[in-house]
Amino acid sequence: MKIINPTTEATIKEIKEDNDQKITEKFMELKRGQKVWKSIPLKNRIQCLSNFGKLVEENIDELAQILTEEMGKPLSQSVNEIKGADARLKFFLKNSEKWLADEDLGANGNTLEKIKYEPLGVIGNISAWNYPYLVGYNVFVPALIGGNAVLYKPSEFATLTGLKIEELMIKAGIPEDVFKTAIGGKKAGEHMTKLPLDGYFFTGSYQTGIHIATAVAHKLVPCQMELGGKDPLYVTDKIKDIKKAASFAVEGKFYNNGQSCCAIERIYVHENVFDEFVKEFVSLTESMKVGDPMRDDTDLGPLARRQQLDYLLFQVNDALDKGAKMILGDESIETQGYFFEPTVLTDVSHDMSLMVDETFGPLIGIQKVSNDDEAIGWMQDTDYGLTAAVFSDDGKRAETILEKLDVGTGYWNCSDRVSPNLPWSGRRKSGLGSTLSYQGIRAFVQPKAYHLREW
Ligand code: NAD
Repeated sequence: MKIINPTTEATIKEIKEDNDQKITEKFMELKRGQKVWKSIPLKNRIQCLSNFGKLVEENIDELAQILTEEMGKPLSQSVNEIKGADARLKFFLKNSEKWLADEDLGANGNTLEKIKYEPLGVIGNISAWNYPYLVGYNVFVPALIGGNAVLYKPSEFATLTGLKIEELMIKAGIPEDVFKTAIGGKKAGEHMTKLPLDGYFFTGSYQTGIHIATAVAHKLVPCQMELGGKDPLYVTDKIKDIKKAASFAVEGKFYNNGQSCCAIERIYVHENVFDEFVKEFVSLTESMKVGDPMRDDTDLGPLARRQQLDYLLFQVNDALDKGAKMILGDESIETQGYFFEPTVLTDVSHDMSLMVDETFGPLIGIQKVSNDDEAIGWMQDTDYGLTAAVFSDDGKRAETILEKLDVGTGYWNCSDRVSPNLPWSGRRKSGLGSTLSYQGIRAFVQPKAYHLREW
């Protein structure tokens, strides 16, 4: 398996992919290891994860460098991601005892009633490359704290990061037979669906998610899906500072090159402020620097995967063929590195792939609307339901709009934000189940009800 640097297209490293037999062996070891791990006191498990956090912190520069080399995000964003993941870790360290504690419900007649939370067993975590620390921590940190063993399959586009995570876990005191990586791509993931794992926690595209969910459905074990989105932003006409609104929109769209599940994927702007907003949005977008992600002044590096370039070109051409106007962009593709110039289109509509299918890149369509009801109609015209944002000086108006949308997360005057205190969940094609918050602690345990009666 070749690990390619998307900036230079050079091979960083060649590593051996795990075959089916190797993954099965790892699973068998985890099965044994979990039996011991679950009986280790919760406080000690928490301590191991705390050690892991310290090791990550100590090695942050090297880890950020590895991440940027293998997936292309600017180095400063790799550092930010690892720091953000640490904040999530600290949330779990602080809150797990409270949410995993036995619940004594007292007497019901002559019977004492009590709930205890037990681990699921060995869980499979099939993960994505765009934020390997953030989306990984959402799963393997609470899973381990809850007493589970984890078979972690990093994305084939973030393999070196996955291997580093495994190395630091072991160094931190997590037993080798409690956390293991399955190295590989689709084939390795497919094999995991065939193993008798006790839960599947997937982050990735809808297409892969539905395939996995279907393959494991007959096992009736927990199966959580954090999938894609087509997240809309609506800019109302009640905005004094259009430049500020545009700068927040640019950040929400282009951070990590638009390769965030909760990136702004389409923009609707009230006709009274449309021209001014578009002017500011384009001018700010133009000022972003595309280039070597290792440089401090780079805003956008290459995309992580070559095939995404063809897909983005398809969305641009499909939109242009159907009447869209390209007001910023350059369709020529660099000969070296997976670079795509930030591209903005107006005169867009929902018969274009750009406005209905996940883009996952530095390309955006901006559509004019004449009132809130029209905006709500377009925002709801999607099979996805991850996040939605409203920019307005009127918070009440924004909240009224957000209440009408079928999404897991609503943003007023912000976007592309995840907090460990709040549940992270998608609706419909954006996923199933929640990570983060107390719900993301309980997701990795199962309740056992006790009816206790003294004769
Ligand atoms: P992907 O679906 O291509 O791959 C995800 C993982 O699944 C990888 O580890 C891959 O090797 C594995 N895989 C691929 N085919 C498989 C199969 N047939 N069986 C089992 N495993 C298989 O997704 P990606 O390109 O890694 O990530 C991008 C997608 O993830 C986007 O749609 C993005 O929106 C979504 N995402 C969602 C969230 C969220 O929290 N909702 C977070 C990050 C990314």
